[in-house]
Amino acid sequence: MASDFMDFCVWHQDPCFSISKAYDILMKPTCNPSSSHWKIIWQLVVSQRVRLFLWLAFNAKLLNNQERHRRTFAASAVCSLCNDFNESVVHSLCDCVVARAVWDQINPIDISPNFYRYDQSNWILHNLKLSTFSPTMKTSWNITFAAFCWHIWKARNDQIFNDTRPSSSTTSHRSMTCVTYYASCKVSAPPRVLTMSTIQWSSPPAQWVALYTDGATCLSIGFASIGGLLRNNFCTWLLGFNRGISVIDAFKAKLWAIHEGLCLAWNHGFELIQVQSDLACAISAINATDAHASVFPLARAISALQNRGWAVDFLWIPREANHAAVALAKYADHSSFSLMPFDYPSFYVQILIARDVDGPPYCKTSVY
Ligand SMILES: [Zn+2]
Repeated sequence: MASDFMDFCVWHQDPCFSISKAYDILMKPTCNPSSSHWKIIWQLVVSQRVRLFLWLAFNAKLLNNQERHRRTFAASAVCSLCNDFNESVVHSLCDCVVARAVWDQINPIDISPNFYRYDQSNWILHNLKLSTFSPTMKTSWNITFAAFCWHIWKARNDQIFNDTRPSSSTTSHRSMTCVTYYASCKVSAPPRVLTMSTIQWSSPPAQWVALYTDGATCLSIGFASIGGLLRNNFCTWLLGFNRGISVIDAFKAKLWAIHEGLCLAWNHGFELIQVQSDLACAISAINATDAHASVFPLARAISALQNRGWAVDFLWIPREANHAAVALAKYADHSSFSLMPFDYPSFYVQILIARDVDGPPYCKTSVY
C-alpha cells in the first residue's frame, strides 16, 4: 500500500468482476510442471536453501531493490552499493562491482565465455546447465556457480543490512569451502532407496517363553514407567506387569523393564527365556562380554540374573513387533511406584496380541 499513488481499478480480465472469476484466475497454475527448469535447479547437488535461493533468483523473486521497489517497499530501485544501476538479479549477483570482484577471483569466462553478457533468466539457466568440469574447483561449473551466487547474495545482505563488509577474497573463500563440501557429497552420496517391509510377531522356540518389555518416559509430567508381558511359543498370554519408576531416562527405563521382567519370570519358575526388546543399544549393553562390569548398574544386574541356573537369550525386534509391551508400559498407574502384576490382559492389549497372531502385519518404511 503506497500513499503516494491514487487508488485505481486493477481488474482487466473482464468488464464484469465476480469473486468466482477472480478465484479461477488465482487458481490457474503459474508454472509448467513439465518444464526442464525444475530439474535443473532442484536436482542440483547443493543444500536445499541454495536451491530455493536459485529458484527465487530464476523467477526474479529475490527481494533486491528492483523487486522491492516494484512492490512499493523501497523508494528506489537503484543498487545501494554502487548507486549506478537498478538492483536486478543479474546486477546484484554478477554485474555490480561488489559481485564482479568476487567472480574475478576465479575467472568465470574461462569456462563460460559469455558470462557477463546474459540477461537474467538466461544467465542463471545457462550456468546451471553447464556441467563442465572445473579443474580449479575440482567439481562441475554449475555447483561452483550456485555456491558463489549464494555467498555473493549473503555478502551483499551483510553489507547492506548488517553493516559488515566481507572482502571479495573472504566471500570467494567461503564459496570455495562450500564447493568443496558439495563436491564431496556428490561423490559419496549413495542413491537413496525406499523400502517397505511387513512385520509380524515371531514366536520363540518351542518350550521357550518370550519376554517383551518396554519403558515409557514423559518429560512434560516428569513420570516414567515400565511394562512387559510373557507369552509362550503359541502366543498365549502367561502374565503381564507394569509400574512407575523414579528414573526419567529412556535407556535406563528399558533396561529396568528387562530386569523387572526377568525377576518376575524367575519367581514364576520359567527356565527358558527369550527376551525381545526394541532397543538395540540395550541388547548390545547386555550381550557385551564384559556386561558384568558394565558402567550401567542395571546391565550388571541383568548379567547377574542371566548367570543363574536357567537359559536367557536376548533378541532385538522392531518396535512394531512390541506394541503390547509398549501399551502396558505407557498405561501404568501414574500415582504409584508399586509393581502391578496382571493375570489377564486388558481388552486393548488383547486386541494387540490378537493382531500379532492373526494380522494384518504392521508396515514399516525405511530409507537406505
Ligand atoms: Zn551495484
